[in-house]
Amino acid sequence: MVSATEPVPGSTGAGAATDAVAVVCVRSGALPAGTLDAVAAAGGRVVLVGSGTAVAAEMLGGAAVEVSCWEAAGFAPGRWAGPLAELVSGCDQVVLPGSPDGRDLAPRLAAVLDRPLVCGVVEHGPGRLTVSAWGGSVMVDVPVAGPVVWTVHPVAVTAEAHLHGTGPVPVPVTAEPTEAHDAVTVEVLGPDLATMDLAEAPRLVGGGAGLDGPERFELLAAVAARLGAAMGATRVVTDRGWLSHDRQIGTTGVVVDPALYLAFGISGAVQHTAGLGDPDHIISVNTEPHCPMMSMADVAIVADANETVAELARMLGCVDGAERSGAVS
Ligand SMILES: Cc1cc2nc3c(=O)[nH]c(=O)nc-3n(C[C@H](O)[C@H](O)[C@H](O)COP(=O)(O)OP(=O)(O)OC[C@H]3O[C@@H](n4cnc5c(N)ncnc54)[C@H](O)[C@@H]3O)c2cc1C
Repeated sequence: MVSATEPVPGSTGAGAATDAVAVVCVRSGALPAGTLDAVAAAGGRVVLVGSGTAVAAEMLGGAAVEVSCWEAAGFAPGRWAGPLAELVSGCDQVVLPGSPDGRDLAPRLAAVLDRPLVCGVVEHGPGRLTVSAWGGSVMVDVPVAGPVVWTVHPVAVTAEAHLHGTGPVPVPVTAEPTEAHDAVTVEVLGPDLATMDLAEAPRLVGGGAGLDGPERFELLAAVAARLGAAMGATRVVTDRGWLSHDRQIGTTGVVVDPALYLAFGISGAVQHTAGLGDPDHIISVNTEPHCPMMSMADVAIVADANETVAELARMLGCVDGAERSGAVS
């Protein structure tokens, strides 16, 4: 049984199907990547569920017009799906960020609501949702005739929302999780920089075609590890097979949102930068001072990226890197 002190976002009464609502999982007050896109796609209506929802609601600021907060411990998408379905059943469209938690909750919510699920939407319009296929080469329109649950490919749906201004007063929701199977958390380990989801990385080092080979990327990975950063690359690099596709940053790779981005030998093509989010700081190393990546950078260093990586490896005392730098310099 779910109760809220005011009508839940988007509903005008029992069973009344009205437009859209976003459902966003919150962990310790942190909003996942793609939240703003989901909230914007839902017209500013959002249900926050998880821990620290009041803090997360403040972070939404003027991007939201109606916020409901269900403060619930842990992460239990199976047990949350029932009460959440009750909350949002009045809305035709239920939108979740395409974050790991969003992708976990969305199919369960769709199953309880008995609705179709469309994943990784890059664009939406009346009666259709558009998803990308074949690495972004093909756009597929999915006709939508009735109520649906969908996840947003982060950043892809242009967010008109802005964080400035004061948001609405959140409406607290009380609900009891239903009986369902959820994974049991045995231990929470810190992220492994080499394999972590790039979308979650607060610091990113990126390498492009200006780097001269796969060995240079091994060196760059050692530098990244010393800087506490994860390493990504451009599509040119992943197409060459130097790194796997899950390391590709960009609109058809992983859409990221780091606080710091260091770009080595990257031109800054729009398909790359459109997936970069809004880093607080960008440092770019490139031999071409006027390329877009250099224009975007806070610190633009006109230099050979290969030599710079080798020198950084030496300075940071990367054991493997120091050994390798002689081989690839
Ligand atoms: C449908 C579609 C989807 C795409 N999706 C993506 C995507 O998701 N992500 C993505 O990244 N790309 C994507 N692309 C490709 C994108 O258009 C660019 O081709 C790509 O981002 C360029 O990668 P790059 O900067 O490594 O290479 P380039 O554009 O070739 O740039 C290399 C850069 O290195 C510099 N350089 C050269 N030598 C040195 C040196 N010794 N030291 C320092 N700098 C040097 C050059 O000045 C240049 O700026 C997509 C393209 C299409 C058509």
